[in-house]
Amino acid sequence: METETYNPFLNAQKQFDSVAELLNLDSGTRELLRRPMKEQHFTIPVKMDDGTTQVFQAYRIKHNDARGPAKGGIRFHPQETADTVRALSMWMTWKCAVVDIPLGGGKGGVICDPHNLTKAEQERLCRGYVRQLYGQIGPVLDVPAPDVMTNGQHMLWMMDEYEKLMGGHFPGVITGKPVGMGGSLGRTEATGYGVIYTLKGLLEYMNLPAANTTASFQGFGNVAEYAARMYTELGGTVIAVSCWDQEDAKSYTYRKLAGCDIDELVSIKNTFGSIDKNKAQDLGYEILPGDEWICQEVDILIPAALENQITPDTCAQMSPKVKIICEAANGPTTPDSDAILQSKNVVVLPDFLCNAGGVTCSYFEQVQCNMNYFWSKEEVLEKLEYSMTNAFAAVNELAQDKKLSLRDAAYVIAINRVVDAVKLRGWV
Ligand code: GLU
Repeated sequence: METETYNPFLNAQKQFDSVAELLNLDSGTRELLRRPMKEQHFTIPVKMDDGTTQVFQAYRIKHNDARGPAKGGIRFHPQETADTVRALSMWMTWKCAVVDIPLGGGKGGVICDPHNLTKAEQERLCRGYVRQLYGQIGPVLDVPAPDVMTNGQHMLWMMDEYEKLMGGHFPGVITGKPVGMGGSLGRTEATGYGVIYTLKGLLEYMNLPAANTTASFQGFGNVAEYAARMYTELGGTVIAVSCWDQEDAKSYTYRKLAGCDIDELVSIKNTFGSIDKNKAQDLGYEILPGDEWICQEVDILIPAALENQITPDTCAQMSPKVKIICEAANGPTTPDSDAILQSKNVVVLPDFLCNAGGVTCSYFEQVQCNMNYFWSKEEVLEKLEYSMTNAFAAVNELAQDKKLSLRDAAYVIAINRVVDAVKLRGWV
């Protein structure tokens, strides 16, 4: 999310520039990697149920495809901006590289609020997106997936439209599809579980048993739900969860100091991750202002919503008990907060490593689609845990070795891999 003070693309560029300096990259390589290679900005006219037409602004941006087809989600959000999509596409390049999957970085977005669209209107919007873009996406070009407020049904409509236009079956055109329709078992859980696989590695390194820790979440969409489930399975206690309330057009923090029951909260949330306030109250949850998730006296803060949530201002509200920020969202921490957190000895598990489980499983989905042979959930999750644990271990080792933050160490590994690819291809 772009705010008056923070622009996610400028943040992504700042992060890149400082590591490019550290790596002493030549100017041509820097110029190539600090901005997207290709951008499509287009409009989608959609016939609404009442017979009128609404025109939606949409984007698909490819940051870099030197390591493989561009890969990344499509977000539906009223505050979507071209710069947000640019930043997210750039982070996708680093995300795929840090977990070493043969894919590049891309991202898409539509300025819309799906809360206000009927199912039929959402279907026409998804099909319209593909009609404008079908020459530019594809299994060997650019492969979309779900992101904030998009889901498996949206992906399936998009795949169906693509297949109609191309005249054949191309399940590898998009990932995050429903199971049985080219989707992978475990994809729904993958991003959230991946977050906790990396957190588990960090807790082990810090000698902190998960069962002795508490956490507070921002957001309760798909990523937060599965992260919270696995974290509580490891014995951790979730004290608070904040999420958006559509009716009141603001967010609330739902708190239970004895520990939230994740199944219970899931049973009273809608598909966009909003918890039913009245039901939560009946179940004994305290209802606090939305931004209070960050003030909780917990060991771990897990931002799992949008960009630019951890700023110097919000850092000042954090409890001194906080030891870890586990970035389940993309870009939740502004660059000027990283130094503040370091001075407070708060360890940041960086977004493009921490939340790479989703795209890793998307890659498994593509592999399964190509083979037309689908793995068991156990097999998928075992491979996912292996990838995430190894990626964390490599980043942590480099961080300790070179005295870098985990974010900088993850950037060093990812950027080096992409630089090797662009150089081997002779692009720079
Ligand atoms: N939107 C997710 C992300 O930001 C998943 C991307 C994908 O599976 O391609 O990582």
